[in-house]
Amino acid sequence: MLNGCGDCLSSCENNAIKSILSDVIPILNQDKCASCGDCYEVCEDNSISRDLFTAEVNQEECHKCGKCEDACPEHAIKKENNGILS
Ligand code: SF4
Ligand code: SF4
Repeated sequence: MLNGCGDCLSSCENNAIKSILSDVIPILNQDKCASCGDCYEVCEDNSISRDLFTAEVNQEECHKCGKCEDACPEHAIKKENNGILS
């Protein structure tokens, strides 16, 4: 059953799968971020970096799975599509 988790994107060795959500990007609000590291832990692409104070998404590495948004206890990450926050 499809649930949009994005696991197939990172596991396909032939890079043969593209997400229809590719125009949706995670936007991290650093004013809300508590640098807990939860998003960093769930990101399988290692596309989130963090320091003692905040975190940051590397959009070049991100495959838009949305797991970081779900993991953030501070609701600091929101998907953005064509300028509209979900
Ligand atoms: S959406 Fe979040 S968890 Fe998924 S690859 Fe991008 S930064 Fe990582
Ligand atoms: S999960 Fe949320 S609060 Fe924690 S480091 Fe990531 S963005 Fe910041």
